[in-house]
Parts: sequence; structure tokens; C-alpha cells
Amino acid sequence: MHLAQRLEKIPPYLFAEINRKRDKLVAQGVDIINMAVGDPDKPTPAHILQVMHEAIDDATNHNYPPYEGMQEFRAAAAKWMEFRFGVTGLNPDTEVVASIGSKEAIHNTFLAFVEAGDYTLIPDPGYPVYRTSTIFANGEPFTMPLKLENQFLPDLSAIPEEIARKAKLLWINYPNNPTGGVATMEFFTELVDFCKQYNVLLCHDHAYSEMAYDGYKPPSVLQVPGAKDIAIEFHSLSKSYNMTGWRIGFVAGNALGIQGLRQVKTNVDSGVFKAIQKAAIAAYSTTEAELQAVMSVYQNRRDIIVKGLQSLGWPIQPPKATLYVWVPVPPGYSSAEFVNLLLDKCGIMVAPGNGYGAAGEGFFRIALTIPEERMQEAIGRMKDAGICYA
Ligand SMILES: *Cc1c(COP(=O)(O)O)cnc(C)c1O
Repeated sequence: MHLAQRLEKIPPYLFAEINRKRDKLVAQGVDIINMAVGDPDKPTPAHILQVMHEAIDDATNHNYPPYEGMQEFRAAAAKWMEFRFGVTGLNPDTEVVASIGSKEAIHNTFLAFVEAGDYTLIPDPGYPVYRTSTIFANGEPFTMPLKLENQFLPDLSAIPEEIARKAKLLWINYPNNPTGGVATMEFFTELVDFCKQYNVLLCHDHAYSEMAYDGYKPPSVLQVPGAKDIAIEFHSLSKSYNMTGWRIGFVAGNALGIQGLRQVKTNVDSGVFKAIQKAAIAAYSTTEAELQAVMSVYQNRRDIIVKGLQSLGWPIQPPKATLYVWVPVPPGYSSAEFVNLLLDKCGIMVAPGNGYGAAGEGFFRIALTIPEERMQEAIGRMKDAGICYA
């Protein structure tokens, strides 16, 4: 028996090695503070749970759902795009499709648009799926470095002409995992122009659209006039509403983009449990006060981590959005060396920046998914161990 070659081309799972090390330390009785994985620790808001409880008992929800999502769900998604971003006129039948969380839809978009030898333009550092799904589709990933000095936005002028011509998809993700970077409308406009010039489907992964702080509201790329000619946007309830386990989101925008994705999905999955779609509709009517109640937890944690690291000499500013703080490793260390040092000396687990791509080298990522006391404890352990930025 042999595994398919496409599996051999997939880089090892980001956390595989560090998880082995953690398991060994846990077996020795070490109390590990895990800030590596971006999975919200708080429950889904009560008004969403309430609708789910009722929907489960309704037998009309128990059969196969429509592949593309219930009409009611797609209409609620289109309405939310208008309410939240002022994006009007999305047709729920042709310009919106339900997804089983955005990871699934991201992968299937590659299958719908990338052929052997086609390029994909992907951010580095970035969500690992963009690279692995390019490989699954036999495409060639071309990475766009996200650098601190460019506010973690890619430099489009650095993409060679012949690569741009052979590219099928360009992926961006703002607010950004892992860097915490945010995009301006000016940058989105530049991207739409670039993608139109080269006839590349612009794919905006908007997984953190609601996870923003200090009054900041991240924009949609579909707010750019004419963006729908070339762009689709991936929305997810996972992070914003503490719903990672529920597996629901939607994709909206260009009709051909949605049609391609729908065609793949119709052949590989059978949709999202209708009860979950009904709960998701309730999520889209979350009030601003309820949303802020979820976000204030992360904002307080962000402030503890940023102030704590600043007190140890780190030259960082609080990110405006996401579940993460993207932190430079002290001079003289690689990402892997410093992450291992934190684990060995302090029992603290964080994600090495190079796990998100070569341009992530020199950084590590802290996820804001543990209680405040544990974060205080982590900063205390670093101080006691003499770890600082110097
Ligand atoms: C978490 C995450 C996703 C996947 O979210 P799901 O909707 O749960 O599949 C997609 N993109 C980025 C950048 C993420 O961080």
C-alpha cells in the first residue's frame, strides 16, 4: 500500500513536534500554559444556544439540508452583509453559498479553480490551508511576504508579471492570522484593480471580521465598487461567536466564484445540519452589546499580554483585531529556539512564526484563548526565568 504522492508533498502539521514535547512534559507533571492554538475557550452566546435547543427538537430539521444552504440562511447572510458592511444587492441564490465552516470552502475553492501548473498567490505567513490546498489541486503556491515594515500587507508590485498572468487565485485575510494586521479600503481597492488586470479570483478570508477592538470595525473587500466582478469573501461564525465546533459559515460575492464552489460542494458534501443553520441565523442578529460582551474578554486579555511583554522589554503595540498577538523573538534566537525555550523554562506553549511560512521566521504567535489569571501567570514565569527582549 502506498499513500498518494500529494500527501507526501504536504508539510508536517504545524503543532506535531511541539505537541510531542508538550505530552512528554505533561507526563512529567509540568503545568503547561497553552497559548498555541486559536480556539475560543468561552461558550457560544446564550441566544444562539436557545435557538439550537429548539431546532434540534423540530423533526423537519432532521433530513438532508439543501447543498447550497437553506434559502432562509442565505438570505440572512446577504442581509447581514448589508447591515454590517453596507454591501447591498447580494443575490442569495447566485451570490451566496453556505459552508461547513470556512476551512472546507477555502479548500474546495482551490479544487474549483486551480489546474495543474496554475499559480496561486498566497500570504506568508498565512493560514496553512492556502498552501496545502494548492498542492492538493496540483498548483504552484507563490508566496507574498507580509512584513512588519509594510503593516503586514503584501507588496503587489513584487509579484512577477509572468506569475500574475498564470495565477488563478489571490488569497488575503484581514484582520490577519497570524500577524494581527488589518487592511485599509485603499489597499482593498488596489487589490481589486490588480486582480481585474490579471483576471485572478480575489479570495478574502474574513474569519476575524467581528474580532476587533477599541471601536475598530474591519471592512469587507466587497465594499470596493465593482469588487463583485472579481472577488469572493469567506465568512465564518467560528471565531466571532465562539462557535468553532459548530462548523458553519458562508461565501459571498462573484457569481462564477460561487457557482464553481457550489459545484464542487454538491459533489463532495451534503450541507450543514439545518438546526445549525437556524442557530446561525440567530447569530447574525446578535446585538452590538452582545458582540461587545464576547470581544471585551479578548480585549482585556490582549492588554494583559501586551503590557506584560512591554514590561519585559518587548517593542510591541496592541493589535487592533484578531485572537492573536504576533511577537518578535529576542535577537539571536530563531522562532523554533525561542518557542522551545519558553516551553522548557516556563512551561509556556506558543506557536512558532515560521510554522505559518518562511516569512514568519523571527516571530511567535500568542493566542488569547486562556483566562486572564493564566496569562498573568505566564508573564510571571517569564520574569522569574529572566526571559526578556534584549
Ligand atoms: C480559524 C481560521 C479559519 C477557519 O475557520 P472555520 O470557519 O472554523 O473553518 C479560516 N481562516 C483563518 C485565517 C482562520 O484563522
